[in-house]
Amino acid sequence: MTLPIFLIGARGCGKSTVGRALALAQGCQFIDTDYWLQENAQQTIAAMVEQEGWDGFRARETAALEAVSAPSRVVATGGGIILSEYNRRFMHEHGVVIYLCAPVDVLADRLEAFPEEGQRPTLTGKPISEEVSEVLAQRDALYREAAHYVVDAAQSPDKVVSDIEAALQLARA
Ligand code: ADP
Repeated sequence: MTLPIFLIGARGCGKSTVGRALALAQGCQFIDTDYWLQENAQQTIAAMVEQEGWDGFRARETAALEAVSAPSRVVATGGGIILSEYNRRFMHEHGVVIYLCAPVDVLADRLEAFPEEGQRPTLTGKPISEEVSEVLAQRDALYREAAHYVVDAAQSPDKVVSDIEAALQLARA
């Protein structure tokens, strides 16, 4: 039995991609909080935000985080989950938190290449690279505060997974 592993980072840093591969490698279950939320509410995130505002969505996100936290799970979290101090502390105290850190240009390239994966409404309505830059400037310190380990997410998915596994060995030593 192992502590849950929380993957945090900006949209496009690879939480879902790397999380699935990591779960497979570790024999864990993979859970994505955004996906879990939408399945449970039978509603898209865009619809939740439209009906309840960002505050309503964030409250649901905290409930989802608590509900999915269990041993032997890899949890991919929404990019803004760290905005709440409660969520930052909850993850830090209940699991191993990995910040998948990638520079703005890498994130923007990935989001531009696969815009359909960014189902969440944009936060500012600005061009992608500008928005990514602003969001990261605002959130990088919070990701670092919540994280036990920071991993370079600009590398290939395989390398990111092996770096996380090395960090987990340290955490479990
Ligand atoms: P997140 O869940 O953090 O928003 P995703 O895992 O959905 O990010 O990845 C966003 C996009 O970037 C996807 O198209 C995915 O294939 C690509 N991607 C993710 N990680 C990597 C990586 N390490 N190298 C190259 N492309 C990646």
